Amino acid sequence: MFGVYAPEHDVARLAYFALYALQHRGQESAGIASVQAGHIMTQRELGLVSQVFSEQSLRALQGEMAIGHVRYSTTGSSAWENAQPVHRSDRRELALAHNGNLINAVELHAQLRERGVGFRSTSDSEIIAALLSTHEADRVEDAIADVMPRLKGAFSTVVMTRDGVVAFRDPAGLRPLCLGMVGDRYCVASESCALDIIGAELLREIQPGEMVSLGERGIETRQVVTGHRQAFCVFEHIYFARPDSRLEGNRTQVSRRKMGEILFREAPVQADVVIPVPDSGNPGAAGYSKASGIPQDDGLIKNRYVARTFIQPGQELRRHGLRMKFNPLPEVVSGKRLVVVDDSIVRGNTTRQIVKMLRDAGAAEVHMRITAPPIRHPCHYGVDMSTREEMVAHGRTVEEIAQELDCDSLAYLSLDGVYEAIRSTRATHCDACFTGDYPLEGTADAANGKFALEDELPLVGA
Ligand code: SF4
Repeated sequence: MFGVYAPEHDVARLAYFALYALQHRGQESAGIASVQAGHIMTQRELGLVSQVFSEQSLRALQGEMAIGHVRYSTTGSSAWENAQPVHRSDRRELALAHNGNLINAVELHAQLRERGVGFRSTSDSEIIAALLSTHEADRVEDAIADVMPRLKGAFSTVVMTRDGVVAFRDPAGLRPLCLGMVGDRYCVASESCALDIIGAELLREIQPGEMVSLGERGIETRQVVTGHRQAFCVFEHIYFARPDSRLEGNRTQVSRRKMGEILFREAPVQADVVIPVPDSGNPGAAGYSKASGIPQDDGLIKNRYVARTFIQPGQELRRHGLRMKFNPLPEVVSGKRLVVVDDSIVRGNTTRQIVKMLRDAGAAEVHMRITAPPIRHPCHYGVDMSTREEMVAHGRTVEEIAQELDCDSLAYLSLDGVYEAIRSTRATHCDACFTGDYPLEGTADAANGKFALEDELPLVGA
């Protein structure tokens, strides 16, 4: 997600490259909206950023400001209607991009429909857009300040009207959102890697519960909601964010290397070579190798042109994605005792197949080391981890998981180890997918399945 107000820049091109750097956050659809002479223009399509936009389409998106989004589905299917930015013109015209997931989407949707508000999509993001575009306040900032306390869940959001761009973040700060400066203008992005690519400087993170307006007069900020428990997603540090992004003052790559070092301290093993599962396990393997003195080598080669399997929806696609993805090097692994490092295990399909591939290539022993605790609970705040039943750690001890994956040993980094690596504590983070301890009240009983709104409102043509 990205937003910029910069009349003297090519804002559509800035948005394009920012989204290009954020491609890992969503690969189902991409979109950019811009404002030119008081009109909002939107282009959004299913596909990758590089497939969706051309020179010609970017030229048609000229303007003073722009917002953009890459999507993978959490609430709402991956249909075109759910691609973002959402564009609505009720009382006011606006475009909106949202990263996260509302846990009271069904309730808000019902309230809006009772008021006669119609919807074109089944995403929770259109609910936020509808609340703001139908709001009677004259300024969109006042509408946001009124609506924010009614939204429950994760929402890093950017809204654009013909007057400016406004970004706001949920009071727990579940998903990331940072503020940058490009020339003497301001921009916002989900991660700092999007600022680097456009030559923008990272100023700071948008605070949980804060709203920041970007416009002709620079920025204005307002702390709309205070006093909530902060709960930044710890899985962003472990897996989701790009390694060159900065999160909470930590370079993600450095945190992940540290996780590997701590994992060796917690779970050492006698072995000949450390190999990463590329690319997700690279920094963890480097840390494990450094701490243990066991040399690191590339025993698995990854096809760089296959999209990451984790965020392609559906079991069948995931399995196909994996078969195309890795190839072991017998010269590195044959006859060796291997420590194989990865950053997480969700369903276990990837790990199981990797272990088999390595054994088939002649590995003498395969010891899996994971730089995160076992994932046993679904995420309700915007990361598609599938159901509890599909998770390999669900209802299994670590020994049972090791048997299931057919490895000689398996060890996970402790939660304390994760927090040591990111130099912080549980008090300000969400770690619910590991602990089941959801930081927001009402999460467990929220009727927020991925297709919750589709049950209410069948999607035309889907
Ligand atoms: S449940 Fe896990 S993935 Fe979801 S927000 Fe919390 S830590 Fe992040």
